[in-house]
Amino acid sequence: MPELANLLLLVGDALIYFGALAALLRLRRRIGLGAFFCALGVMHFLETYLASTYYVALPLGVVTSPGSTVLFTGKLMMLLLLYIREDAVVVRQPIYGLLFGNVLLFGLAFVMRHHTLVALTPGHVADFGFLNTMGALMVWGTAVLFFDCILMILLYERTRTWFGERILARLAATGALILSFDQAAFFIGLHAVTGAGLPVLIGGWIAKMGAVALYSVLATVYLVHFEQAVGRRRDEPRIWDVFDILTYRERYEDLLARTGSDALTGALDRHSLEAHGRRAVEHAAADGRSLALLVIDIDHFKEFNDQFGHAAGDHMLKRIAAEIMATARVTDYTYRFGGEEFVVIADGAKGDDARGLAERIRRNIAGAAVRDDAMRVTASIGVAICPSDATDYDTLFDIADKRLYEAKAAGRDRVVDGRPDLRQVG
Ligand code: GH3
Ligand code: MG
Ligand code: MG
Repeated sequence: MPELANLLLLVGDALIYFGALAALLRLRRRIGLGAFFCALGVMHFLETYLASTYYVALPLGVVTSPGSTVLFTGKLMMLLLLYIREDAVVVRQPIYGLLFGNVLLFGLAFVMRHHTLVALTPGHVADFGFLNTMGALMVWGTAVLFFDCILMILLYERTRTWFGERILARLAATGALILSFDQAAFFIGLHAVTGAGLPVLIGGWIAKMGAVALYSVLATVYLVHFEQAVGRRRDEPRIWDVFDILTYRERYEDLLARTGSDALTGALDRHSLEAHGRRAVEHAAADGRSLALLVIDIDHFKEFNDQFGHAAGDHMLKRIAAEIMATARVTDYTYRFGGEEFVVIADGAKGDDARGLAERIRRNIAGAAVRDDAMRVTASIGVAICPSDATDYDTLFDIADKRLYEAKAAGRDRVVDGRPDLRQVG
């Protein structure tokens, strides 16, 4: 049954495509994002070529092109992943690069057709009709992509209010809505250029929905198992802010001023905590969602500095921040509140989740030795939960801070979350 074989081949295409690009994305800190962007750009060429000429039959009479099903849908999902792990400032770079590159391709092809050609072998004749078709589709496709991306980012942020931190549902809903919009918009161009009819529109849509489902699962697995939590907290963006970023209206210096991360540890800074923490608690309280606030203070850190020196102390702080961020979930945020004090905000975490998280952080800090084995520290952690402890940020913070000092008074290296039976030592 060739239709079934086609379907299996498409799934295979998608697995290869996603696996390779996700690996490049994952390696971005080591090799830079340029490698990921270039690979994405090369795929764009194949994508348009396939979408303009290469169609396959699937079960139930669906006809589709791997160009739109595997490559285009995949590209949007990769850009969404990029946004989730980085931000709109990063996502706008490939969008403009693709648009600019396609216009350049179109322009160059227009000039190059005036060359007098030499046939390489009798059978090989240059085909400018093909370049015209592809060029026009590429320019149209990337113009649509620009709007896709703006809508996708706004929609993804909006899905938080529908699905909370359920990442699979958020990815699938965002992908399905955006690709439905895109399918309709791209079809206008495809119809104008190739005369493709309604079955292509419907078949392409069904195939894209299937691809969204597969890619959403893959992207969720990637986010949960292959990405570390970072100290990045994002506010629900307002439509004009995202629009300003994606259209380069926002000034670079303003952006720099707002990155808000701590230079030594890479966690978010205290300034960000003031702005974001307050809003996170307000949102959680308003939406009836649970949220945990952890205040972490390293035990006897002054002694560590005195014994091993300030440079070793800095090294240790970096390591501790990395341990906290690696222990937290993708959706948690880590702030450096003071010298050796950190705050974690875990949106969506209930009492038991928070206790588990705090315990794991405490254990992982105690287990982290830098250079030689003697260079270890422990930490004390105070936990407060919204809404059961408080529903406003200041009170919640005070309660967590008070519990931190209870943990110190009780002998350090422990978690206090206000519930009676938690006295775990060492
Ligand atoms: P405890 O919290 O257990 O009561 O004892 P502590 O020694 O940690 O006391 P406290 O929290 O009051 O002191 C924090 C110390 O952390 C003071 C300073 O030596 C050290 N510290 C703060 N910021 C930095 C930093 O950026 N680098 C290094 N190396 N040390 C720092
Ligand atoms: Mg302290
Ligand atoms: Mg301390």
